[in-house]
Amino acid sequence: MSEHALRKQLEFYRDLGFEELFVRPSEAEQASGLEDSTADAAPGAEVPVQRAPAPAPPLDEPPAAAPPASEASSQHLSPLQVIQEDIGDCTRCRLHTGRKTIVFGSGNPNAKLVFIGEGPGADEDAQGLPFVGRAGQLLTRMIDGTCERIGLPIRRPDVYICNVVKCRPPENRAPELDEMEICGQFLFRQVKAIQPKAICVLGGTAAKALLRPGVGITKLRGNWTEWGGIRVMPTYHPSYLLRGYNPEGKRQAFEDLKEVFTYVYK
Ligand code: SF4
Repeated sequence: MSEHALRKQLEFYRDLGFEELFVRPSEAEQASGLEDSTADAAPGAEVPVQRAPAPAPPLDEPPAAAPPASEASSQHLSPLQVIQEDIGDCTRCRLHTGRKTIVFGSGNPNAKLVFIGEGPGADEDAQGLPFVGRAGQLLTRMIDGTCERIGLPIRRPDVYICNVVKCRPPENRAPELDEMEICGQFLFRQVKAIQPKAICVLGGTAAKALLRPGVGITKLRGNWTEWGGIRVMPTYHPSYLLRGYNPEGKRQAFEDLKEVFTYVYK
């Protein structure tokens, strides 16, 4: 990206109210990381794939005197509450036009494990909570069932669950890249605030937002990768598992979750 284009992009995010940016590795870096790390690696092996997302260069001419809104308001709020306050009644991307509620996230704010999905659906939009519809109920059964089968006293409220975008896309379409880029800034701040031991990415869209745009979930799933120094396990989105008869997909998702929970909690 040219210096001019980079400056324009940074100004765009500054105008949207972001004080700090996180950037993903480029597709070229991601592609070489994939070749380096996963070609011979067994699923679950420790495979450092990507460099940590680096903070973007500082914006020129930052506001001199005024402290960042997040600093000013953070005195009595938890880090997650500060982010939620910064989101406010967000209109930073087009998804705000069709939403009823902003679905920030739910679960243990100190969780060792964070699940990241794509975006809210109709039930989530209505209730303001992530993964409460059919797919959410399956996710709950997957979490609780996996932990029960491997003898862990962990249940859904012990983990943290959120999405890449906080507002429901119209007609449940996948979020557009620019929507994920903008709302993803809040996601990155959420993960940074929680500092989990691992992340479980649910489905191709969330994987695209965090990891490698060019690689499908069927290739990514079951292999550890890394984001910002945190291990990441991609697996299928529960809504994919609900589509028709899919015992193999369910078996693979169970294996992925077993791997994640064993790594995080055992
Ligand atoms: S999806 Fe995210 S960035 Fe877009 S309007 Fe909703 S909260 Fe704001």
